[in-house]
Amino acid sequence: MKQVSSAQTSVFVEPSPQEVMRRRLDVANQDAESRNQDANRPNSVFLEWEPSRRIHGNEIEPTRVLTLLLASSECSLRCSMCDLWRNTLSQPTPPGAIPRQIEYGLDHCREQNDFAAVKTIKLYNSGNFFDPNTTPAGDDARLIQLCEPFDRVVVENHPSIGTRRLYEFGKRLRGKLEVAVGLECIAPRMLKRLNKRLHPLQFFQFAKRLRDADIDFRVFLIHGLPWLMPNEAIRWTVLSARFAAAAGARHISVLPCRAGNGFMDYLQREGVFTPPTHQQMQDVFARLQSDPRFDNGPVLTLDTWGLDPDEVV
Ligand code: SF4
Repeated sequence: MKQVSSAQTSVFVEPSPQEVMRRRLDVANQDAESRNQDANRPNSVFLEWEPSRRIHGNEIEPTRVLTLLLASSECSLRCSMCDLWRNTLSQPTPPGAIPRQIEYGLDHCREQNDFAAVKTIKLYNSGNFFDPNTTPAGDDARLIQLCEPFDRVVVENHPSIGTRRLYEFGKRLRGKLEVAVGLECIAPRMLKRLNKRLHPLQFFQFAKRLRDADIDFRVFLIHGLPWLMPNEAIRWTVLSARFAAAAGARHISVLPCRAGNGFMDYLQREGVFTPPTHQQMQDVFARLQSDPRFDNGPVLTLDTWGLDPDEVV
């Protein structure tokens, strides 16, 4: 019988956060010089169109959104598939830095003709908005002031981090708070393999508490995860989206799983991960759009960030 080494077997079990961190070293050094380390400037600022709601069936109403990709400290969790740490600062976010980044973004976009019509702001920080290392709590009053012109404020946050502060922030905002949560995939053991520190039931309970607090939520799903065959991946992405819709998600965004964090590159070399193609992403999105369970339900979007542009058809 062929001997299987411990390195080979580890690709089939739940990877430890330590192993994920060890594999990160393969790519972290390449990033060191290109990472933004200026805590007073966001990584990116742009205006985009986004579907805001369904009008009839699958017909959607678009809205203009100001998106800031904030520079802040790294998320304290160590999900196996996450490469967002590549966009983070290497120290806790200094007090006042997040408001300064938002001021920068607002100044940058105010000159745009249609800026007055922008009523949604997305503040994405590659982690958890209500983690005090990411956004110092003393900044909340100024953040609420800066968000005053917007009817909707979208932030990313894990269900187990900073939730008391989250509900308080939601109450103090003039507009509606929307929390974006990475549910990723509800296939058995998948969230454990991803080191997500989240169980589908915990997500469902969090969703209910958000609804009770009149806070909206959107869900990120990752398609093409390792350990799933392509046909299983489609099935589980559809089931995960139905689960998120049943929990009351306002918006479901499907993203491709990608290499680039060291650990996923390792799985790719070991043959248990192949990044989904653009065609596979379109196929799963077509399945979602034709599923009558989503009629009059959440907005569905496909985010192809990270896919090789050559594959875009
Ligand atoms: S919770 Fe989100 S930001 Fe944090 S490690 Fe996991 S995927 Fe990355």
